[in-house]
Amino acid sequence: MIRLIQPSDYTSQVGSIICGFGPMFASKTTWAIMQAKREQLVGKVLIFKHGSDTRYTECEELMTHDKQSIQCFSIDSHELIMDVLHRQVDVKAVIIDECQFFHPNLADIVEEMADEHKIRVYCVGLDLTFDRKPWETTQELMSVADEVYKLKAMCMVCKRRSAMFSKRISSVTTKKHVSGTEDYTAVCRNCY
Ligand SMILES: [Zn+2]
Repeated sequence: MIRLIQPSDYTSQVGSIICGFGPMFASKTTWAIMQAKREQLVGKVLIFKHGSDTRYTECEELMTHDKQSIQCFSIDSHELIMDVLHRQVDVKAVIIDECQFFHPNLADIVEEMADEHKIRVYCVGLDLTFDRKPWETTQELMSVADEVYKLKAMCMVCKRRSAMFSKRISSVTTKKHVSGTEDYTAVCRNCY
């Protein structure tokens, strides 16, 4: 069951930065889509994902492991977010998935959207690499956020505790590598 974290105020008189970070299999994209659908009841929502995330689809959609999807902009640079934003009017919310793959300066743009444009910005992604090192961009975003939520998976080893860590179970070596169920698992502290 995914908890839907709701901002207390949808009036856009002030912006805010809401982060949902966690390991793989923590239903992060599902969380992002749920926030997007709620925000779409209020006003215009822009959804972004990093361009390297083409695990399940090549077209411009945010898609979960279980194939839920929503239309989005697929971009490979944080700077393109403002290009898209400036071509739109009356945007109430922005959702950014796979934040960890963007340059750490994403945090500056996220703050600008919240401060200057009064937008609610939802940042979603991994907090740790498979060897439990923090992703720099995630750290930057957490430090400027109004609210930070740790999303967790079920430990796939003991199946008893919540999983906080992504663990590599194949010979993949680059932390940029994005893959599905075959290369990683989610585990609790005890089972890492
Ligand atoms: Zn466990």
